[in-house]
Amino acid sequence: MRFSDTPACLGIDVELFFTEEKGSYPYLNHVKRICNTCPVQEECYNYAMDNLVHGIWAGTTMEERNRYRSKHGIIGKTVLPASMFIDVTYEQTV
Ligand code: SF4
Repeated sequence: MRFSDTPACLGIDVELFFTEEKGSYPYLNHVKRICNTCPVQEECYNYAMDNLVHGIWAGTTMEERNRYRSKHGIIGKTVLPASMFIDVTYEQTV
C-alpha cells in the first residue's frame, strides 16, 4: 500500500491506533483528530474498507467499518501478514 502524500500519523506511536481495551479504543478521540488533518484520509478510508484491517484507520474503528460494510453488502478482503509470503526455507552453508 502506498499513499499519494505523507500520512499525518507518520512517526506517531502506532499503539494509539491499535490499542483496544474491553471493546473500546482509549485513544479514539485523539486519533480521530489526527486523521481529520490527514491529507490521505480518503485513500486510507478506502483501503480500510476494501481490506479487513484491525484498529483505527481514517478515524474509523473496525466495528464502524464492519457495520457500514454489512449495511451496504460490501465484502472486504482479508489481509495476510507479509510474513506469509516470505520463503523461510534456506540451505544451511557450512
Ligand atoms: S487517515 Fe489513515 S494515514 Fe491518515 S493519519 Fe489516519 S490512520 Fe494515518
